Amino acid sequence: MITDFLIIGSGIAGLSLALKLSAIGKVAIITKKKKAESNTNYAQGGIAAVMDENDNFELHVKDTLECGAGLCDVEAVKKIVYEGPERIMELMDIGASFSKENGELMLGKEGGHSRNRIIHCNDLTGKEIERALLNKVAKKENIKIYEYYFAIDLLTPKNLKRKNKNKNSCYGIYALNVLSNKVEKIISGKTILATGGAGQVYKHTTNPAIATGDGVAMGYRAGCQIVNMEFIQFHPTTLYEKDKDENSSHVFLITEAVRGVGAVLKTMRGKEFMHKYDKRKSLAPRDIVARAIDNEMKKSGDPYVCLDLKNIGPEKIKKEFPNIHEYCLSKGIDITKEMIPVVPAAHYSCGGIKTDLNGKTNIENLYASGEVTMTGVHGANRLASNSLLEAMVFSDAIYKSMFNGDLSNVKRETLDARRETKDTRNIPKKKNEELKRIYDNIYDWNEEGTENTEEWILISHNKMEIKEIMNDYIGIVRNTIRLERAYRRMKMMKDEIKDFYEKTKVNVELLELRNLVTVAYLIICSAMMRKESRGLHFMLDYPKKDDKHFLKDTILVDS
Ligand SMILES: Cc1cc2nc3c(=O)[nH]c(=O)nc-3n(C[C@H](O)[C@H](O)[C@H](O)COP(=O)(O)OP(=O)(O)OC[C@H]3O[C@@H](n4cnc5c(N)ncnc54)[C@H](O)[C@@H]3O)c2cc1C
Repeated sequence: MITDFLIIGSGIAGLSLALKLSAIGKVAIITKKKKAESNTNYAQGGIAAVMDENDNFELHVKDTLECGAGLCDVEAVKKIVYEGPERIMELMDIGASFSKENGELMLGKEGGHSRNRIIHCNDLTGKEIERALLNKVAKKENIKIYEYYFAIDLLTPKNLKRKNKNKNSCYGIYALNVLSNKVEKIISGKTILATGGAGQVYKHTTNPAIATGDGVAMGYRAGCQIVNMEFIQFHPTTLYEKDKDENSSHVFLITEAVRGVGAVLKTMRGKEFMHKYDKRKSLAPRDIVARAIDNEMKKSGDPYVCLDLKNIGPEKIKKEFPNIHEYCLSKGIDITKEMIPVVPAAHYSCGGIKTDLNGKTNIENLYASGEVTMTGVHGANRLASNSLLEAMVFSDAIYKSMFNGDLSNVKRETLDARRETKDTRNIPKKKNEELKRIYDNIYDWNEEGTENTEEWILISHNKMEIKEIMNDYIGIVRNTIRLERAYRRMKMMKDEIKDFYEKTKVNVELLELRNLVTVAYLIICSAMMRKESRGLHFMLDYPKKDDKHFLKDTILVDS
């Protein structure tokens, strides 16, 4: 396949970008499962943006910087905050319907926000956004979505038959067509990673099964800078289910928005505890709440703490949180009468592939947007509901930077953009033949010397071991001894899996295992480099922030 733009991932980052790029070229979106299956689809709380006269940009910037504990890039933060309202309007224009009261947007509040600024659609915001985006994408002739295509690796100069002396450049990807079980090469003028998060590296996570960190692992292998992977956000409140299937890592989230309207954290015995940790109590930022819960559970030996929703009232609960109400009822808990048992779980990866303010990586013709990136917005801790916004804003930035001149290597057949904008200044005409030449110059996938595996137990056992190690040694609270132990085990597993991969015909389970072990390894290596406590990274043996030595990003590049 040859295309102008190849987008890997069909969440908010990929779809919102595809809609824009379709005006200037042909867009292929590949996605590893069904198109709606993404972290985006599970987002509950909403999108943060300044939409109220009692709020202002400076406050949103200040809240984000405070949460990021010194590591945010101020320009990146300003970018998402100042462009927020415009991106929200865009979502509404394409048909996303957000909760309103008396004709005005209802604005929720979440931990760390000093004002009400969370635009939402009840407690199913992500599903509504994904629906609206997919609906719009279906109407664009220039966009084609390929479901069940799994991106394996980025094509770089090492995949060329005739080498060129150019700097590191991306020509597209090798992808496994899961339905035909064949590996195809997809050549593109511009490649965009929008592959989302990596929560599945942990045993308990709010992320669905697709979130195996494939983009970060692919980027690392191709030579991208991977930054700040130690900052994994644990969501404080996910439903504790005693009889949960041990083989499924995916847990159900209880959005922070319930605390925003009055729900209170208590112990199993009904005693409040958050006042001991922060003056904002149950609405303190997530890292503080997650550590407080972890500490209470460790002190008491209790398997969970509770969320008490009685301040909210049954009618409001049913109206504003219908999804949570129904799900808990299906598990035998009536949240209008009973407290919800909750535990923290891995939720969001603040680190990722480093991009600039235009979403560009350090590899030519390779861009990234969404949770796979480290743009500088989140620093050491993400402020709630800033991630959907970040994805929208940076996808827009990618489009604008391409439209405004960065279109080298892109063939253009469609003139929609010209018609729509009447602006043709910077769009060069590139020939189909150029991409065709690249196609011919890339090696076909070679599976010589590999065989189908009979060793399924090896894959599933390794996967479970990675998750257990991450949960036990690199969770909410860390220390050097645990990190060193985790490093030794993960390094060995990474080498073993590499050997096994080289001898085995690829399949989805193996590809995900290879990516999971890579991302786990990167998280551990990054955590070991940061000998201080900051934001989401809390070290028992270095309990203080150390600005003198560590007010900087942790950068890893494959050597
Ligand atoms: C339960 C939950 C609640 C959340 N609530 C909020 C909230 O209220 N507000 C907020 O701002 N954020 C929230 N987040 C975070 C937010 O949803 C994500 O950060 C955001 O949706 C990421 O969007 P994305 O487009 O980058 O990735 P995703 O939406 O995860 O999309 C990634 C896409 O890439 C595809 N993909 C991955 N690997 C490959 C591969 N190898 N080959 C092909 N395709 C691939 C996937 O199939 C998927 O289509 C929440 C997350 C979760 C899990």
